Amino acid sequence: MSKTDLDALAARLLHHRGPTLQPGDSVVPEIVSTAVFHLPGNPSNAAFQYGRYHNPTWEALEDPLAILEDAEVLTFPSGMAAVAAVLVTCSTAGGRILLPADGYFAVRALSEQFLKPFGVTIDTRPTAAFLDGGFEGYQLVLAETPSNPGLDVCDIAAVAKGAKAAGAVFAVDNTTMTPLGQRPLDLGADVVVCSDTKAVNGHSDTLLGHVATRNGALMARFKEWRKYSGTIPGAFEAWLVFRGLETLEVRFARMCATAAVLAERLAGHKRVAAVRYPGLRTDPAHAVAARQMAAFGSMLSLTFGDGAAAERFIDGCPLIQPSTSFGGVRTSAERRIRWGDAVPEGYVRLSVGIEPVETLWRAMAEALEKLG
Ligand SMILES: *Cc1c(COP(=O)(O)O)cnc(C)c1O
Repeated sequence: MSKTDLDALAARLLHHRGPTLQPGDSVVPEIVSTAVFHLPGNPSNAAFQYGRYHNPTWEALEDPLAILEDAEVLTFPSGMAAVAAVLVTCSTAGGRILLPADGYFAVRALSEQFLKPFGVTIDTRPTAAFLDGGFEGYQLVLAETPSNPGLDVCDIAAVAKGAKAAGAVFAVDNTTMTPLGQRPLDLGADVVVCSDTKAVNGHSDTLLGHVATRNGALMARFKEWRKYSGTIPGAFEAWLVFRGLETLEVRFARMCATAAVLAERLAGHKRVAAVRYPGLRTDPAHAVAARQMAAFGSMLSLTFGDGAAAERFIDGCPLIQPSTSFGGVRTSAERRIRWGDAVPEGYVRLSVGIEPVETLWRAMAEALEKLG
């Protein structure tokens, strides 16, 4: 999708409710917190029946997300609840699924602990070599690109082609890029999952996730799963994410632009052993990233000589919030090895926030100098 078309989506997102409003309606959606709805007689006569089936505030959030994804969207109470919906509905006993070896660890943990005992075989493959071996025999292929935390990429269109030929459902976890930075459905994926806890909400004040697809049969399954598993978002959380989503375009543009500047400067810095950022021309992910991403993202990684230097950098920079997660307004960082990811001791995942770039850079440069 061209920059003009992406901009048009971002503008439409802000004004989509306009044509539906009556004089006196609130411009912003209401928080409807209720378990039950007025329901005399035949329940099919009512648009809303029970709080586990549907809720006006979820729908108020699903509408603009659907505009952004150009697909039907279903929200979940967290990114993992969205991933779980896809894993459970797209795998069966005796089937095989393929996951990234270097993607978000909870996806592998969930599959190993809860799908495998039901007879699903779990295979994993590194994102950078995701095409190797093809996709024959898989029910479900789930890719994550750029992968979290390694920032490797795979060619979405090529995986889509292979997965389709093999008859597999192809899902992409698009959390690191958001629909404004990368559009897996346009590249041939069947399903997108996204943790809106990250950049979509952007304020680090709630968890939420969504699934998007243009395949009606898959969406019907996801809806049944949500209805009967009860993995439903809260009305207030949906409302918070609606509000966060309204500023996604400006936040994400600022964060990506700042990340690009920082990546260049950090890559040339004597205290930093290695930098990964798909936007760097020298990065192994750059060629594929430049082809399939509309932006290069707000996350980069730095490797220091050892864990102690990494910790001193994080703690020594007043504009870095030591915390997990990413995509928030505050720049944050952490050593991923503390969660068991297969990365070096000195590997730091840096999530770039919306601080003005030169102020942020000065604070980082000072923290680097203090490393001695
Ligand atoms: C954070 C994350 C998830 C899980 O999202 P939650 O909202 O924390 O449940 C899934 N995939 C990726 C790539 C993530 O970064």
